[in-house]
Amino acid sequence: MCYRRKTKYMLSPTEEIKARLNIVDVVAGYVKLDKSGSHWKACCPFHRERSPSFMVNEERQMWHCFGCNKGGDAFAFVMEMEGIGFREALIMLAERANVELPQYSQESKERYQEARDEKSRLYEIHELATKFYEKQLWEGPGKELALGYLRDRGLSDESIHKFRLGFAPEGWRHLYDFLVKSGFDAKELAQAGIALKKENGDGYYDRFRDRIMFPITDTIGRVIGYSARVRPGADETQAKYINTSETPIYKKSQVLYGLSYARQAIKQAGHTVLVEGNMDVIACHQAGIENAVAASGTALGEEQLALLRRYGKEIRFFFDMDEAGQKAARRSTDLALGQDIEALIISIPEGKDAADLAREHPDALRDAIAHPEPALQYFLAQLVSRHDVETPAGKKEVLAQFIPFIGAAKNEIDRSYWIKELAQAIRVEEKHLHGVVHSARVEREKRTQNLPSDGKEPFKETTTLYTKRSERLREEMIGLSLAFAAVRTRSLEIADETVLRYLEKHPLYFFIVQAGDGRDPIDLVEDKELKSLAGKLLFRILDGPDFSALPEEERPAAALGIFEQLITDIKKEVIRSEELIALEHALEAARRSGGKEKEKELLSKFMLLSRENR
Ligand SMILES: [Zn+2]
Repeated sequence: MCYRRKTKYMLSPTEEIKARLNIVDVVAGYVKLDKSGSHWKACCPFHRERSPSFMVNEERQMWHCFGCNKGGDAFAFVMEMEGIGFREALIMLAERANVELPQYSQESKERYQEARDEKSRLYEIHELATKFYEKQLWEGPGKELALGYLRDRGLSDESIHKFRLGFAPEGWRHLYDFLVKSGFDAKELAQAGIALKKENGDGYYDRFRDRIMFPITDTIGRVIGYSARVRPGADETQAKYINTSETPIYKKSQVLYGLSYARQAIKQAGHTVLVEGNMDVIACHQAGIENAVAASGTALGEEQLALLRRYGKEIRFFFDMDEAGQKAARRSTDLALGQDIEALIISIPEGKDAADLAREHPDALRDAIAHPEPALQYFLAQLVSRHDVETPAGKKEVLAQFIPFIGAAKNEIDRSYWIKELAQAIRVEEKHLHGVVHSARVEREKRTQNLPSDGKEPFKETTTLYTKRSERLREEMIGLSLAFAAVRTRSLEIADETVLRYLEKHPLYFFIVQAGDGRDPIDLVEDKELKSLAGKLLFRILDGPDFSALPEEERPAAALGIFEQLITDIKKEVIRSEELIALEHALEAARRSGGKEKEKELLSKFMLLSRENR
């Protein structure tokens, strides 16, 4: 034991980066922070709010939002903000802190290195290919064949450069030969989705031929794939657009066209403008609407919505007014509501798309985007105008099509609002609608989670509530241990088996033990969820009524006092909780065997015991 305490440990790269970077500077690069007591505060960048519940603690190098419950260290913040994974965040911050990145553990070193090499080769391939396509557009055959078309569609040369549009010439091996000459092998090119293997198995050829190339980037702007449009005037019977197929760096369900150019603007505006096609995105940006993106080559999905939600919780859908566009709008709205994203609809005259409007009437476009209509209001109006709501059949039709939207809304206030609106619109009494909405929600729940709907019995709820209370005590003890070294030392001395067993059930306790006297347990946690939980518990303590008003130097002693009290409470709680669970089982058995008297007796015992505290 003494051995561990005396050993000098090497700092892990994450520890070293954190030691060199101040989280306040990292966060302040994105958010305006104000000093408040021992914290820094801001309005949370991850959810919309008017009064700040986002805090940064400089001493502990942690952040937490009490509004949306997100939190963690500098890495978690950058990951959340940039929409990137831990590795990318590590690389980003390591560069900033000037830290050489040794690999993690010897065993994972090779696999990680390989995967990284493989990926970085794929990025390189795409970067080179993009340069090749650009050159073909500006100086090669694309100059005659494609550039004019893009300009006719109203794109400025500046936009064409900014979005790095290019041209893939006709022929079988232009890009292939170029990349092989640059040192890549056929297998890599196939893996990148750029070359295809011939069907007779002999050799490879270019995936994209005689097409206008729209590079697709990840959130930090690296090209990861392409959306390729058939050249105007070429054989237009082939698919108008083809996209890169899935590769190790390109997952179409997680990509939005234009996001790397749009994310800052989305953050500033608080909302995304979601348009249909790549052209629409570029045209919008050119017209000054820089928060426009599109779901490229796929219908908008859950993962894309979750990605957008990080930047702003409102989406303004800008779909074509034709049947397909409107269907997409309905589907997307339904998905967005399910993620508690505010959905609005931008409507424009039929027969136009965003790109047309951006070119012909940019002012009208900006105006339309600035004045969207709440999606449900829009759909309700549409339904009412299409059906005769004076007839029972018309009422039924509107009802059937609109109820699923209400059911999708996460928020109860929203639901009751739209029930009222619907009742008025089809002239039905409101009370008849609540039941229908409820069953729509149950249906939806079953569909999305396969969960049983209801049927909780009262005593079950009591136990749940009780478990929650005892969980809160445990979290308080863990939080105190995370916040104060003195408490940590004390918690390592606990000998009482009951209390130990109780604490060990918390996943963070392991790290407290592991950290021992010298280290900060939070530094040892690598799992993102767990780290965020640690931050939450820590901030709950530091910002709670027991400590926030206390002078710094008096806090450890106060913490120790509270901790001792908790140990005593816990012993009582654990015993009672065990009794409660035993009673619950006995109750169930009594019900099954029909022992009415026994059941009554047990129930009153149960009620008595469960009310016995606080
Ligand atoms: Zn928040």
